[in-house]
Amino acid sequence: MQGELTTTPPKSPTVATRKFRILIVDDDRDSVDLLSQWLTMGGYEVTTAATGQEALRRVPADRPDLVLLDLLIPPPDGLQVMRAIKRDRVLSTIPVVVMTVKRDVKSKVECLKNGADDFIVKPFHFDELDAVLRSSLKKRYLYTSLERANQQLRDANDRLLKLTVTDERTNLLNDRYLKRRLAEEFKRAQRYGTPLSVTMLDLDHFKQVNDKYGHDCGDLVLREFGRLLSESARTTDIVGRYGGEEFLVVLPNTDGIRAAIVAERIRKAAEEHIYKFKELLVRITVSAGVASYPANAQVREENDLLRAADQALYRAKQVSRNRVIVDRASMPPDVLDGDLSAIFKASYEDNLGQGGKDETR
Ligand code: GH3
Ligand code: MG
Ligand code: MG
Repeated sequence: MQGELTTTPPKSPTVATRKFRILIVDDDRDSVDLLSQWLTMGGYEVTTAATGQEALRRVPADRPDLVLLDLLIPPPDGLQVMRAIKRDRVLSTIPVVVMTVKRDVKSKVECLKNGADDFIVKPFHFDELDAVLRSSLKKRYLYTSLERANQQLRDANDRLLKLTVTDERTNLLNDRYLKRRLAEEFKRAQRYGTPLSVTMLDLDHFKQVNDKYGHDCGDLVLREFGRLLSESARTTDIVGRYGGEEFLVVLPNTDGIRAAIVAERIRKAAEEHIYKFKELLVRITVSAGVASYPANAQVREENDLLRAADQALYRAKQVSRNRVIVDRASMPPDVLDGDLSAIFKASYEDNLGQGGKDETR
C-alpha cells in the first residue's frame, strides 16, 4: 500500500488512560513501516502481522482494539482472516478496517458481507485513515462500555441473588431460603411418597466460646462449623444456618436411619475438629435432633417435622450434649427401642469411632 505522509498526525486518540492498540496486517514491509510510524506518532499502539497465519495467532493473543487488514496477504488471505475473526464470539467485536486498492461497489459489498466494519481505498491520506479509525474505535469503545456495564449489572444481580439466599457469616443458606427449600421438598415428598428427613443441630455451650475467647472467635467457629457441615453432608442435602448457633440439614429422599447416620458423621467430625483462632486452639461439640417423614405419622406439614427435630435436639441437650437423638416416631418399629450405636459404628469407614450412644426415647 502507498501512503502520503503529508500532515502532522493529530493528537493522541486515547480513551481513559489507555492507548488504542492497532494490529496492522500487511506483507508489504515499506507500507507497514510507514503506517506504523504514522499511527505511533498519532498516539496509537501498533503491532504487526505479515501473513494471514500470523494475524490469526496475533488477534486472540494481542486482543487489539482494531485490525487494519490488507486483503492480499500470504495465506490465509485477508477475507479468510476477517471471516475467522467475525465467526469468533469474543473476537468478533473487534473492528476490522480493510485496506484495498479496489474502488468498485462489488468489492466493497463483498468486504462488508464478510464482516468488515469499514474500508479505506489505497493510496490514502493520514487524515482520512485517522477519521476511519476514530469512527470504528468510537463504536468499539461504546460497545465495550456497554458490555462492561452489562457485566457489572449481571455481577450485581448475582451478588443480590446470593445475598437473598445466603447467610453471610457462614456462607450457608439463610433461614428464610432454608424454609422455602424445606417447603418445596416437603411437597415433593408428599406427592411422590418419598421419605424426607431433617436434622437440627446446635453447638454445645457455644456461649462459653464467646464469653471466654470473644465474639470474633465465636464467629470463626460458626464459619468453620458451617464449612464442616457442608463437607460432611451429601451434595443432595440442603444445609443452612437456622439461627444463631443452630443449623439445619434437609435430607431429601432419606429415611430416619440414614439421616441419623449423616448426623452422627457430622457430630463426630465436629468433636474431632480443632478450631484455630490466633494462638488459641478451641474445641466444641454439637448436638443434633433428627426427624423423618412419612415415618412419623403425626407430621402433616414441614413445621411439624421441624418441631419433631427440635424436640429430639432438646432431649439430646438434656441427656448429655454431643449426641444425636432421633425422634422416636420417625424410626421404623424394629429399631424403635434399639441402640443405634451399632448402625453408627458400621457407618464409619475407619470403624474406629465410638459412635453416638443414641437413644430413641
Ligand atoms: P447449649 O449447649 O444449651 O446450646 O448452650 P449455648 O451456650 O450454645 O446456647 P445459648 O442459647 O445459651 O447461647 C447461644 C449463644 O450464641 C448466644 C449468642 O450470643 C451466640 N450467638 C448467636 N449468634 C451469634 C453470632 O453470629 N456470632 C457469635 N459470635 N455469637 C452468636
Ligand atoms: Mg447452643
Ligand atoms: Mg441455641
